[in-house]
Amino acid sequence: MNISFDLDGTLIPLNKEFSTEKLNWFGHLLRVEKIREGSIDLITKLHNDGHTINVYTTSFRTKFKIRKTFKYYGIAINKIVNQAENIKALNSININSSKYPPLFNFDVHIDDSRGVGVEGLKHNFKTIIIDSSDKDWFNSIEDAINKIQNKNAQ
Ligand SMILES: [Mg+2]
Repeated sequence: MNISFDLDGTLIPLNKEFSTEKLNWFGHLLRVEKIREGSIDLITKLHNDGHTINVYTTSFRTKFKIRKTFKYYGIAINKIVNQAENIKALNSININSSKYPPLFNFDVHIDDSRGVGVEGLKHNFKTIIIDSSDKDWFNSIEDAINKIQNKNAQ
């Protein structure tokens, strides 16, 4: 599946709500952002299972900055949608939603915002809502993806 991840509160901490992967001096020098502990293993596993991984954020970070962060950790990201692109795309359709993953062909979107989950129900797109405090987030996401795939296969 084509899977998109939110950044803030999902893969990148807003404060210190979850522990992060290690960042060495070179990463600091490059001004790489710290990502959630387990992200490397999780995304590697999802890649190995044949999924494509994208970033969909309502932050205005540049795509260059986002790609640099994931590249530092050895994570390949397919498509990056930031808020500049999101606003443009949402303005081209008649849907009142902060995010609308189908616009970018994302099959399922992973986010920490319950509001995005509600938008998904309202506008008929699939979300996996993961709490920032979920220590077992790796398994929560895997289980949710398996459930969606089993449903799709029926
Ligand atoms: Mg978020």
